[in-house]
Amino acid sequence: MDIDLSAEDLEFKQEVRDFFEENQMKPGEDYFSWRLEWFKKAREKGNWDVPKWPEKFGGPGWTPTQHYIWEQETAKATIPFDLPFGLGMLAPILMSYGTEEQRERFLPDIRDRKVNWCQGYSEPGAGSDLANLKTKAVLSEDGTHYVVNGSKIWTTLAHMADWIFCLTRTDDSGIKQQGITFLLFPMKQEGIEVKPIITLGGSHTVNTVHFTDVKVPVENRVGEEGKGWTYAKGLLEHERTGLAGLSRSLVALEKLKDNAQSITRGNGTLMDDSGYKSKIAELEIDLMATEYTELRSLASASAGEELGPESSILKLKGTEIQQRIQKLTVEASGVFASAWGDKPVGPHFSKGGMAGYLNSRYYTIYGGASEVQKDVIAKNVLGLTRSKTK
Ligand SMILES: Cc1cc2nc3c(=O)[nH]c(=O)nc-3n(C[C@H](O)[C@H](O)[C@H](O)COP(=O)(O)OP(=O)(O)OC[C@H]3O[C@@H](n4cnc5c(N)ncnc54)[C@H](O)[C@@H]3O)c2cc1C
Repeated sequence: MDIDLSAEDLEFKQEVRDFFEENQMKPGEDYFSWRLEWFKKAREKGNWDVPKWPEKFGGPGWTPTQHYIWEQETAKATIPFDLPFGLGMLAPILMSYGTEEQRERFLPDIRDRKVNWCQGYSEPGAGSDLANLKTKAVLSEDGTHYVVNGSKIWTTLAHMADWIFCLTRTDDSGIKQQGITFLLFPMKQEGIEVKPIITLGGSHTVNTVHFTDVKVPVENRVGEEGKGWTYAKGLLEHERTGLAGLSRSLVALEKLKDNAQSITRGNGTLMDDSGYKSKIAELEIDLMATEYTELRSLASASAGEELGPESSILKLKGTEIQQRIQKLTVEASGVFASAWGDKPVGPHFSKGGMAGYLNSRYYTIYGGASEVQKDVIAKNVLGLTRSKTK
């Protein structure tokens, strides 16, 4: 999508490109040392290590267009890997609802990428219907700590996490959205057991987590007891926007077109095949339309407004687009996509094609399934109400 960039924006774009170019990992350099150094330099550059944080909390205070440029350029460049849990999910909650002490305690380590966080929301009986969660936190008689018992499921990277932000139930006497409490606690302690779940693509990223009499000091509660649902909902909107991955899809789509051009079909290439070409065209149009929604969402975020239902539109469309790219990659690879393991066979881009395709099935499930996003859009964007059944 072409948006008109001012002279200052074009200058910023060049500055970002130069920064990425100058700070590339050198051959033989240790990845983790490079990563830490990269974030240090990004901070010195003007708080570029926390691009999405508000200026008040040490962010760069960019305009929506600068954010857009950053997204576009990061998708094209090789920059250090960053997990969303601390930086993009918990930090905004602490900024909005945490105490001054909690902000001072947790935000610097999140910013310095020193502590890995995981998200303890879903449970075996609470996914789409998250408010149904049952993990219990009971306040001790002296009011100093909670005792947590229960289980979480699908907890991404729990096996590598230092801390968890966790939804617990402190009261089940009212409606289920009430009585939920938001707690923070270390993962490496007695009473916490993490077990792997191997997903369809053969990888280990998600887990089950079991809590038995885990003690959590009361000062690790975010906000008020029983009000966790309000904070959790805010966090989901941040999560959903992050999962759309539109800039990465743009780059992936360009690669897909190049790859299709390298495959011979009849007298031409796969890109001359009208069926394949029309699927690419539909994808490109959808991607462009979704980008406009992203720009609207960036504009309202930078005006200090809370994220709204547009995060559901982005999650819904963005993840479907990612799946369609995976599917068209498999289509372009043909039988070679099915090859498993490290040995390359067929065209260069076919390696891991099927594993990528199978893994992409969960894009439309995690962070809230597509059907749930459609419900949010129906209610909050289209203003539809549920039909009354007899
Ligand atoms: C790879 C992966 C990583 C994840 N990481 C995390 C994590 O780190 N932390 C965490 O807390 N959770 C995580 N999750 C959990 C994720 O948020 C849930 O899987 C998701 O919310 C769906 O819940 P569920 O799996 O219980 O499915 P269910 O809620 O049981 O849904 C099953 C099916 O029913 C449909 N459905 C449900 N409700 C409705 C409705 N109202 N209308 C129409 N259809 C409906 C759904 O769309 C779905 O197709 C992860 C999940 C995956 C797959």
